Amino acid sequence: MKEQIMKYLGIDRKSPYVRDHFYAANMRASIYMSAIVVVLEIWMILRMTRTILELPPGTAKPFEYYFQKYYLNYLILLAAGAAMLIFALRFVKGRKDNPVIGTAIKWVFSFICIYFGLTISYNDYAKGEQILTFLTMELFVVCLLTWRPLTSFLILSSSYLIFYFRIDAIPPPNSTEAGTTLATQINMFTMYLSTLLFSFANYNRTIQQAKKDENLEELNHHLSRISVQDELTGIHNMVYFRNEAEKLLSYVTTDRDNIVFLFFDIENFKSYNEKYGFHEGNELLKKIAQMTDQAFAGSLVSRFSDDHFVVLTRFDGCREKIEQLSHEIKCCQGEVHLELKCGAYRPDEHETDPSLACDRARLACNSIKKHYDCYYQLYDKSLEDRFQMKQYIVNHIDTAIENGYIKVFYQPVVSATDGSICGLEALARWKDPNYGLLPPGAFIEILEEYRQIYKLDQYIIRQVCRDYRESADQHLPFVPVSLNFSRLDFELCDIVSFISETAEEFQVPHEFLDIEITESALTDQQNFLQTAVRTLRNSGFKVWLDDFGSGYSSLNVLKDYQFDVLKIDMKFLSGFPDNAKTQPILISIVNLAKQLSMLSLTEGVETKEQFEFLCSIGCDRAQGYLFSKPVPLAQLREKIAGGELQISAKYQQMM
Ligand code: C2E
Ligand code: CA
Ligand code: CA
Repeated sequence: MKEQIMKYLGIDRKSPYVRDHFYAANMRASIYMSAIVVVLEIWMILRMTRTILELPPGTAKPFEYYFQKYYLNYLILLAAGAAMLIFALRFVKGRKDNPVIGTAIKWVFSFICIYFGLTISYNDYAKGEQILTFLTMELFVVCLLTWRPLTSFLILSSSYLIFYFRIDAIPPPNSTEAGTTLATQINMFTMYLSTLLFSFANYNRTIQQAKKDENLEELNHHLSRISVQDELTGIHNMVYFRNEAEKLLSYVTTDRDNIVFLFFDIENFKSYNEKYGFHEGNELLKKIAQMTDQAFAGSLVSRFSDDHFVVLTRFDGCREKIEQLSHEIKCCQGEVHLELKCGAYRPDEHETDPSLACDRARLACNSIKKHYDCYYQLYDKSLEDRFQMKQYIVNHIDTAIENGYIKVFYQPVVSATDGSICGLEALARWKDPNYGLLPPGAFIEILEEYRQIYKLDQYIIRQVCRDYRESADQHLPFVPVSLNFSRLDFELCDIVSFISETAEEFQVPHEFLDIEITESALTDQQNFLQTAVRTLRNSGFKVWLDDFGSGYSSLNVLKDYQFDVLKIDMKFLSGFPDNAKTQPILISIVNLAKQLSMLSLTEGVETKEQFEFLCSIGCDRAQGYLFSKPVPLAQLREKIAGGELQISAKYQQMM
């Protein structure tokens, strides 16, 4: 309530912006007003002088009389107007003198104007003329200038009252009795009310405009702040970083070869968000931003997005700072394991593009993702080549499949009893027109990372089925082929239905298709994989456990799944015969397979000795370079025709 009243009276607290706006509006308005006053007074002085000069000789009064009665008044008003005009013009031109002086001049000027209005109109009234000077001055002062409502009320009321009482004390024209007429009283009251209302309206308009401008200004300020500042953490954002980095890169300084771009990423931050919620995640980001800012005080520190921070700093000593930061972040981790990853890039002296530098630092950072306990990587060219290769693989898998660049190579699996081929492993090769023959090591992992692997595996299934169909149609012998499935195949497509349908399409008996699933795929407890393995076996496909012994949970996998063949990882043979431990381990694995009703197969057999040993311990099958490297089907057939390899009797008769 009190606030409302104060607001209506105009004596509420105003923001500095509104006060400034108010002041500026008055300064601008007073230019017109004071200019008119100055011109008017000069004209009055000239007119007065001419009147005196034109008086008949001898009738003129002494100059002092005119000076006191007229000139002095004109000169005072002229001086006040000139002072006001000069001060206001200086203000508009940008000279922001003390506003207290400006306000004081405005008051004095207004007071003088009203005083003259009063005096002159009083004289006019006495002579029976209209009181226009008084009214004009009132209008000038309270309507051109803006006053708080209370102030204009006081100014108007007091001046009108003074004027009223002064003229009320003398007789009006054409009368001998003192006292204003009713008509004059009504006229004056109407004028008083009009000027008062007009001044209120003027005040409101000015204040509203000021507030509107203030809001706009604030919005502008906010916009310009967020355009260079990261809203969440308060440190600089990417736009600011890029601009400043560009400036820094284009300066020629002695330190130019000592700068480094650092790209930071917090590994597992997503899990932290999931576990503790977005709010806590944001709090952590703010904390990390502060820590980074402090660790690299005086350098250009920014947040690009999510949990990605970029710093431009001196190369000397940066490793220690990164290590310290990495340690500090570990202290914040709670139950989620957080790890700071940092990629670094040192631009050479001709480079001026910060975007490229940031990209390279990020590339270096990404290259150590998921590398436990490796927190720093400096960019080098080979990273870029690897990255480009990666992009090439992901972008070209579809065309490679369409154009038949993907080939199936077959590697024989032999029976330990007689060394004849009892199976083939289908291994993918990519014959690329640009890169030549690519081994699976160059593309399998990438296709898995980008979740494209199912395309390749589906294609291999089709090709193997087609090879079977062609062989069968030509009455050539064929042996079961084992296919490598990625764990992702079960997630990304219905690989179980796919293999059944494709087998049906090419009329391939299911016992000719085996599925190899690598041990590491089965380590996380996932029910859908257990179901998938069961369905495959129920449909007549044999399922093999690949790379047994390569991981840590081999025995758990055997407990949870049922397999037909146990494929023993080639690392067990690599130390043979020097490593004394490998022999007893292989013996126990082979025995374990027997106990669990699985066939045992050892891969990576390269020497006769190794094969003889495997035969002696009762391993059922073997695979390795000793028999053949993976080769195209036609080449394999040549080897068989040449007598280098022979097919197991069981399968020769099948066709
Ligand atoms: P893997 O399934 O363990 O395949 C055996 C790998 O060992 C093959 O490498 C093979 O060429 C190699 N090898 C065979 N005998 C010997 C030997 O005596 N000595 C040595 N040093 N190596 C031998 P490759 O063909 O490069 O395949 C590598 C891996 O790529 C495979 O490992 C498999 O995990 C994956 N892979 C290959 N083709 C496919 C495919 O079509 N789909 C999927 N998902 N993965 C595939
Ligand atoms: Ca395999
Ligand atoms: Ca293997």
